[in-house]
Amino acid sequence: MANPLQTTLSAKLSGLLGFSPAVPLRRWAPGLPLVEGPVLVVGSGADADAVAALLAGDPATDDASGHEVLDGWGLDVHRHAAPDVRYAAVVAVLTGVEHPDALHGPLLTVASTLKGLQRGGRVVTISHAATADDAPAVAAARQGIDAVVRTVAKESRGGATANGLVLADGVPVTAASVVGGLRFLLSTRSAFVHGQLLGVDSDAGALPTDWERPLVGRVAVVTGAARGIGAAIARTLARDGATVVAVDVPAAGEQLAHVANAIRGTALQLDITADDAGARILEHTLARHGRIDVVVHNAGITRDKLFANMTDAQWDAVIAVNIAAQLRINEALLTSGDFTDAPRIVSISSTTGFAGNRGQANYAATKGGVIGMVRATAPLLEPFGGTANAVAPGFIETEMTAKMPALTRQVARQLSSLQQGGQPVDVAEAVAFLASPQAGGIVGRTLRVCGQNVVGA
Ligand code: NAD
Repeated sequence: MANPLQTTLSAKLSGLLGFSPAVPLRRWAPGLPLVEGPVLVVGSGADADAVAALLAGDPATDDASGHEVLDGWGLDVHRHAAPDVRYAAVVAVLTGVEHPDALHGPLLTVASTLKGLQRGGRVVTISHAATADDAPAVAAARQGIDAVVRTVAKESRGGATANGLVLADGVPVTAASVVGGLRFLLSTRSAFVHGQLLGVDSDAGALPTDWERPLVGRVAVVTGAARGIGAAIARTLARDGATVVAVDVPAAGEQLAHVANAIRGTALQLDITADDAGARILEHTLARHGRIDVVVHNAGITRDKLFANMTDAQWDAVIAVNIAAQLRINEALLTSGDFTDAPRIVSISSTTGFAGNRGQANYAATKGGVIGMVRATAPLLEPFGGTANAVAPGFIETEMTAKMPALTRQVARQLSSLQQGGQPVDVAEAVAFLASPQAGGIVGRTLRVCGQNVVGA
C-alpha cells in the first residue's frame, strides 16, 4: 500500500526534477482477456503462419506436415499492417531471417505500427539465437534483432512493452515454452518485463489444460513469504492453482500466518540459514501436502556499505541468507529423491547481479551468484523434466526499497524505460510463469523484471 506522504513527496520531486509522469500499467486478473484489440502478425513463411493460426484460433496448422495442432486463442489477427488500425499487439516472427538485408521488410513494418500502438500495447519478436556456429550474416541478423528489441523498448510510450523470444536452433515456434512465453509476454502478466530477450532452450514442457490455473495439483514452497515480493509470489502461485508452503523467520510468524491462511496454504517458521533448513522444508511439505514440486528462493536481505568500509558481519550475513542457504536447500532437494516430477526451482536475483551497484558488493556477490547457480543447477534437474531459472527484479516498491532515501528512490524509478518502479506482483507473475509446465523448455535463465532498468548491462 502506497504511503500518501511518500507519494506526494515523490510527485513533488518528480516535478522539481522535470521527470515525466509514469503511465499506470495494467495488471492481469483472472477472467481478463489475453489481449484487447487487434494483433498484427508480421513475417511470412510456415512459422509466421503457425503463430497467426495459434493467435487467431484457426486450427489450420498442418498436422499432416508434422506440426502440432494447437488450440487457438481467438484473437483478432491481421497479417498486413493497415495504416488506420491501432494494434494492441504486434508479433514479428523473424525465425527465417538469415541476412541483415532481410530485416528491412518485417522490422520496418513493425516500425510503421508503433505510433498507433495502443496504450499498454505489446511488441514481441520471435527469432533464433545467434551462435558461433551460424554463418556470419545469419549471426549478424539474429544478434541485430536483439538490439532492435531493446531499442524499441527504449522508445516505447504509453506503458507499451517490447520483448523477444529467442529460440535455440531446432526449437519450433509451436514448442510449449515458445507458446507459453508468447502468451506471457502478450498478456498483462508481463507488465514490468520490458526490453528483454527470453531464451527458449528446448521443446520440453507442456501446455496447461487451463491457462488461468496452470499450477493446479502442484505444491510450491516460497521463502521470505511473510511480506513484499515473497507474499506476492505466494498469492500468485496460489491464484494459479498451486498449494503453497509459506516460509519465513519466526519473528515474522504473525504476518506469515496471515499470508498462508489467506491462500489456504501452510506456514513454516524457519530461518533458511539453519543447517537443516532443506530437511525441514522437505519434512513439512511432504507431511502436510504429500509432494513438493516448486521451490522459490525469494528470502533476501541487504547490508549496504561501500566496499572499502564493509564489515565482516555485513558481508557474511548477506552471503548466508541470499546464496549459501539456497545452495544448501537445493542440495537437500536434489538428494532427497522426492523432487523428481518436473520440478522447478525459481530463485530471485536482482539487476545488481548483472550490473553491480554502488554500496552493494556483498549483495552483488549473492545476486550474481544466483545467476550462476541456476545455470549450473538446471542440468541436474533436466533428467526429471525439471528446470532452474531466476528472476532479476529491478526497482520494486516494497518495504525493502521504502527504506531508501526519497530522492534515490525517485531516481531509481526514473531509470527504467517505463519511468516507474515495479510492483511485487510483477516479479510474482514472472516466477509463476517460470514455475509453470509451459516454461519447461526455459532452462538456467535469468529473466529481468525491471521495466528495462538502464543501470548496467
Ligand atoms: P523484504 O525485506 O520486504 O522481504 C524479505 C523477506 O525475507 C522478509 O519477510 C524476511 O523476513 C525474509 N527473510 C529474510 N531473511 C530470512 C531468513 N534467514 N529466513 C527466512 N526468511 C528470511 O524484501 P523484498 O523487497 O520483498 O525482496 C524479496 C527478494 O527480492 C529478495 O531476495 C531481494 O533481494 C529481491 N529483490 C528485491 C528488489 C526490490 O526492489 N524490492 C529488487 C531486486 C531484488
